[in-house]
Amino acid sequence: MHELIVSPFLGTHLVLRPGQPNAIRISRDKYAQLQSTGPDGLCPNWLSDAVIKSWRIDVSDRPLRDFAILRAPSLLGYGRASYELNMGCNYDCKHCYLGLKEFAGLEFAERGKILGSMRDAGVLWLQLTGGEPTIDRLFPDTYATAFDLGMMIEVLTNGSRLSNPAILDLLTSCPPHRVTLSVYGATEASYDGLTQRRGAYKSFIRGLSAAHEAGISLDLSIVITNDNCHEIDAMHALADGLGIKYRDYTKMSPTIYGGAETLTSQSLPHLTVSKPFTGCDAGHTSFHVDPHGRASICKVGREPNIALADEGLEGLHRLGGIADQLLRRQGGCSGCTLSAQCGTCMPLAAKYREADSPLDRYCQHKERR
Ligand code: SF4
Ligand code: SF4
Repeated sequence: MHELIVSPFLGTHLVLRPGQPNAIRISRDKYAQLQSTGPDGLCPNWLSDAVIKSWRIDVSDRPLRDFAILRAPSLLGYGRASYELNMGCNYDCKHCYLGLKEFAGLEFAERGKILGSMRDAGVLWLQLTGGEPTIDRLFPDTYATAFDLGMMIEVLTNGSRLSNPAILDLLTSCPPHRVTLSVYGATEASYDGLTQRRGAYKSFIRGLSAAHEAGISLDLSIVITNDNCHEIDAMHALADGLGIKYRDYTKMSPTIYGGAETLTSQSLPHLTVSKPFTGCDAGHTSFHVDPHGRASICKVGREPNIALADEGLEGLHRLGGIADQLLRRQGGCSGCTLSAQCGTCMPLAAKYREADSPLDRYCQHKERR
C-alpha cells in the first residue's frame, strides 16, 4: 500500500501523505525527473530528505513503487470532485437539502469506471458523500478503490457508523485526508429532534469518540438551525474539548428539487450575509457526480449533466461550457443593479426562486420585485 502520492494539481506538483494535512510542493522539473525515473527507479535524495523532514519516514534507497503512487498528468486538468454514493440516509434531518433521499446507487463495476475517469481527469482530492455514505453497501469497496487510485479522500458523514470496527479498520489502514462529521446538536433532545431519529445523538457521540481515539483526521461541520441554536456554545465546547477544528453552517438551502420544506429550519437570527459572489471554478477545476453517475458542475447546479459512466472522460470536455452557461446571472437576476453585491451564485438563486423563498434568505432586494 502506498505511503505517498506524487501528483500534478492545478498547475502545481505535490507530494502528499494520506491522513496528513501537509504537502511538499515540488517543481515541474523534479516531477518530470520522477516520471522519467519511473516506478522501479530509486528515490532521489532530494525527495527522501524532504519526506523525512515532513513526515519522519525514511524512503531513501527504496524504489518509488514501494512507497509512492506517481500520478500521470491529465489533459483535462481537474483537481477536485465530489461523489454522492447514494442519497439514502439513516436520518431524516429537517434541513436536509437532498429532499427525497432515495436509496439508489450504481453497482461496483460502474463505480470503478467513474473513479477511473476521475483519476484520468486529474482529480486528486475526492469527497465521498451521500446521503450517508457509510451506510452504502459498497462504501468500503468504493473508498478502497479511490484510495488505491491515489486520491486524497474526504468523507462527509453524520458519524453514526464510525464506531463500526470494519469502517474504523478501513479508515485507519487507508487513511483519509479527513472525515468531516456534521454536528446537529449538543443534547439528545436537539440532535434527535433535528435528525428525527431517536438514538441519533448517542450514535454520533459513539462514532465521534471512536474515530477520535483511532487518530483519524477529523473536522466538524456545526449545523445551526431552529432546533439547536440555543446550544451553539455547547457544540463549540464539544469540538474544543476534543481539539477538533469546526465550521459553523447557519444558512439553510432549498432542496435540490427546489423544495421549500428545509427553509423552516432556518434560525433567522443566525442568517448571515454572504460575501459577494465573484464567480467560482466549478465545472472547470472541480465537478460533482451523483448516485446515478451523472457529472455536474457542483452539488447545486445539477443540470445539464453528463452520463459519466457511459461517456467517460470524453463527456467531461463539455462541463466547462455548461459551467459558463449556468453561472451567468440570468432569469430573475438579469439586469439586477445589486448583482455585484449579491452573495448567491446563480444555480442556488434559481433553487431559492423555485422554492418561492422569502427574498431575505438569498437576495439583496428587500421586497419582491
Ligand atoms: S444526515 Fe445528512 S444526508 Fe442524512 S438526512 Fe441529515 S443532512 Fe441529510
Ligand atoms: S440581488 Fe437578487 S436579483 Fe440580484 S443577483 Fe442577487 S439574487 Fe439575483
